[in-house]
Parts: sequence; C-alpha cells; structure tokens
Amino acid sequence: MSQLSPTPAAPSTSSDAQTTQPASPRPTAVVIGGGIGGVAAALRLRQLGTKVTLVEQALEFGEVGAGLQLAPNATRLLAEWGLLDRVLEVAVAPKHLVFRDAVTGRELLRKRLRGEFEARYVAPYIVAHRADLHAILVDAARAAGVELVNGVTVARTQNTAFGATAVAEDGREFDADAVIAADGLRSVVRAQMSDDEPIPSGYVAFRGALPISDVKHASDMDDVVVWLGPRCHLVQYPLRKGEMFNTVAVFQSPAFLRGEEVWGTEDELEEAYKDCVPEVRKALENLWRVRSWPMFDRLPLPTWVDGNVALLGDAAHPMLQYLAQGACQALEDAHVLGEAVRRRVLPASDDGDRRLAWVEALREYNETREPRTSRVQTTARLWGESWHVDEPVAVLIRNMLFEAADARGGFPYTDWLYGRDALTPAAASCVQTVPTRSTGAARQRLSGSAPVMRRGS
Ligand SMILES: Cc1cc2nc3c(=O)[nH]c(=O)nc-3n(C[C@H](O)[C@H](O)[C@H](O)COP(=O)(O)OP(=O)(O)OC[C@H]3O[C@@H](n4cnc5c(N)ncnc54)[C@H](O)[C@@H]3O)c2cc1C
Repeated sequence: MSQLSPTPAAPSTSSDAQTTQPASPRPTAVVIGGGIGGVAAALRLRQLGTKVTLVEQALEFGEVGAGLQLAPNATRLLAEWGLLDRVLEVAVAPKHLVFRDAVTGRELLRKRLRGEFEARYVAPYIVAHRADLHAILVDAARAAGVELVNGVTVARTQNTAFGATAVAEDGREFDADAVIAADGLRSVVRAQMSDDEPIPSGYVAFRGALPISDVKHASDMDDVVVWLGPRCHLVQYPLRKGEMFNTVAVFQSPAFLRGEEVWGTEDELEEAYKDCVPEVRKALENLWRVRSWPMFDRLPLPTWVDGNVALLGDAAHPMLQYLAQGACQALEDAHVLGEAVRRRVLPASDDGDRRLAWVEALREYNETREPRTSRVQTTARLWGESWHVDEPVAVLIRNMLFEAADARGGFPYTDWLYGRDALTPAAASCVQTVPTRSTGAARQRLSGSAPVMRRGS
C-alpha cells in the first residue's frame, strides 16, 4: 500500500498513510506513456487546471521519424489547444488525396482537400513528421507545467481510498486523483481490465522518410497518393514543407499465412509488389530496410475504465492504420477526457466530491468515446480489406466504387469521421455497437469477424 504523497503525483516510498493524504488544492492526474496520446492528454488536462505528472519508460521522449496524416477531426483540436499554427509551420497541407490502381496505374479517385473540404470541416487535412508533432506537444506540455518524468516503467495501477496509484517496476508509486494509461498497443494497464491480446493482421509496414535530395522516385509533391494493389498498398506524401518525402509500403506476408514465426521480411516486400507498375516498384527504394512494423489491432473493448483508472489512445482502441486515424483518435480522447473533467471534476468542492467526480468523468469519457472508436476500429479493418482485394471481379467492383465516389462528389464517406459533432455524450448515443464476439475471440487472427457497427436512429 502506498504512502500518499504530500505533493500529489510525486513518487512515494512508504506504506502506511492511506488515511493521511493532505487535501490537494486542485485535481491531480498521472498519465502513463509519453506517446502522442499520453502527451496530448497530459497537456489538455493541465490546460484545464489539473496538476499532471506524465511518466514514460524511455529515457528520452521521441517518436519514429516517419510521417503522420492528420485529418480535420484532429487538426481542429490542435487549433483549439493553440498548437495548429506551430504544426502548420512544419507540416504540409496536401491539395488532394489520390487513389490509384497499383497494377494498371489508373487513377481511381482524386479528392480535393482544400476549398470546400476545408471549409466543411473547419480545419485542414495535413501531413506532418511524427517527431515534429510530438516535439510540439511535449514542449507545450512542459510549458503548461506538466511534470515530465522519464525512465519510469509502470508495472501496474491500483485504485486507492483517495484516487489511484501507478506502481513502477522499481517500486516507486505515483499517486493522484486519477491515472490515465496511454501505454500503447501492449498496455500493461489494459491487461488488468481484459484478457485480450493484440491481433496480428498478417500485414506488415515498411516505412521511409528521406530528405528530398535522397529520394529516387517521388510521386506528386502536392498530394497524398495511395496505390491499391493485390494484398498490398503503398502511400506517398511530402513532409516538412517538401524538404522530405514519406513512403509507406504495406503488404500481406505469405510466411504469416503459412504460420511461420518470422514473417514480413525484405524478400517478401519485393515479391509483394512484383505485379505493380514501375512507379510503385521503384518507390520501394525509398524505404528504410532496417526495420518493419507488423500490423496489429484488437477487437473493441466496451469498458476501458476501472474506478479512477482509464485507458487512452492505442491502449484503449488500437486499430489498423488504413483510415490514418490512430493518433487522431488519441487526440479526440484527450479532448473528450478534458471536457468530462471540466464539467464534472473542476466544480467539485471538496476531496470526497472530487474523487467521485473523477469516477463519473472517466465513466462519461468511456461512454462517449467507445462507440466512436469501436466504429473507427472496425471500419479501418473493412477499409483495408477493400483496398487489398486480388480477385479480378473484386478489383473491378472496388475500382468502380472508388470512381463512383469521385463522380458522386460530396462527403458521404467522410462526414462521420471528420465531422464536428462526434465528440459529445449526445453523439455517442447515436452510434450503436452490435458485438458479435466476446473479447476471448481477440486471440484469433484477422479471419475472426469484427463487431458489426450500425448507426442508431
Ligand atoms: C505504419 C503506421 C502508420 C500510421 N499512420 C497513422 C496516420 O497517418 N495517422 C494517424 O492518426 N495514426 C496513424 N497511425 C497510428 C498511430 O501511430 C498510433 O495510433 C498512435 O501513435 C498511438 O499513440 P499512443 O500515444 O496511444 O501510443 P504509443 O505511441 O504506442 O505510445 C505509448 C507510450 O507509452 C510508453 N509506455 C509503454 N508502456 C509503458 C509502461 N509500462 N510504463 C511507462 N511508459 C510506457 C511507450 O514507451 C510509448 O512512449 C499509424 C500507425 C502505423 C503503425
């Protein structure tokens, strides 16, 4: 049992003071994990008046040096938090999102991302270097007064009489009114709430973000270009005002399908794109070959909250990246969590009220977010499957649907995702999930069916 520290959220060492925690003048939170989700949550809670300590296992904060697409549902929040201008200084706002058939080279869809699109969603669609976005968030969190602590690996969390505690592997304990676990795909805190496991999709990503002078085969410098191929795709876009170029190649591993331990190798990469147009095959030269990223997700989890402990970001709802929404959804989490704390915790008058107010705020956060993120998780799977078809009839239908979407115009496929009204408790009641499997099915490979989502009335 922890000694509840005189300074909330500072590490404590002895074990007998559950009843002696002095009143804290303001709400306190510990955030576990310094990825985009954790830093955004810490910043937002701090901006709203919470005293926040963020603990990160790595000795330094950082992100993979690759690109990230940020749709308007995320950039609108960055604007609200006062960060969009700084992000825009180092980002690119592409003119179009372009889909092409990777085998024939034919253009299937060219969606304009400026003008009407930007006006409709009141924010831009941008592509940024992950390290740039992450550094801007960390700087803002530090400047706002978040206490950032590196080199702390959390082993578990527990609810206490006064809130919750994050217990580190080295025995240090971090006490606060609430603990927010943004500890990623393999979250140790999620393991306390669910026995599910990450699900390998059998697809693997190779990435490369190179200075433009080193790029051998660049695609359109003003657009995000997605090439759709049989069991593979390739994404290209500029970064840092065109000074860099980002390439991501994602393909299904035959070795995975054969059940082999080692899968997603460089040899498989070359083989996966052999039927694609030269432009795509040459773009593989822009990839780093030293590392690859096997793609995992999990099935939606209905409850991410246990008392005064809550999950956030990939810890709560890891998804396949086909909608380019994992980080965007983590930013939405931070926003909704902040709003729930603003409504329920900040007005609480004394310590007892405040502990209960946190429980209610975290419950509201869970109830608001879960229907939305479940829909994004399951749609991301379906979206990827539609990209990767290889039967000729399926390819024909896919291409017709993409071309029809272009001809139809409008925003029928993006309003639900990028629209402005998805982040309130009222909006959550309009999205219903119909789970078809328990979390036990999470151990299955992707062939297991995902929950079916439908819009409520
Ligand atoms: C190839 C690829 C492309 C993608 N493209 C996009 C895109 O274009 N747009 C988009 O929005 N999303 C994209 N995503 C998804 C996005 O990267 C993730 O959803 C997002 O980064 C998750 O952030 P997070 O903070 O929740 O988790 P993470 O980034 O995983 O951060 C977790 C942090 O917690 C720390 N941690 C873990 N365990 C502990 C512990 N026990 N104690 C202390 N600290 C701990 C880790 O060190 C890490 O810093 C993509 C993903 C991939 C793989």
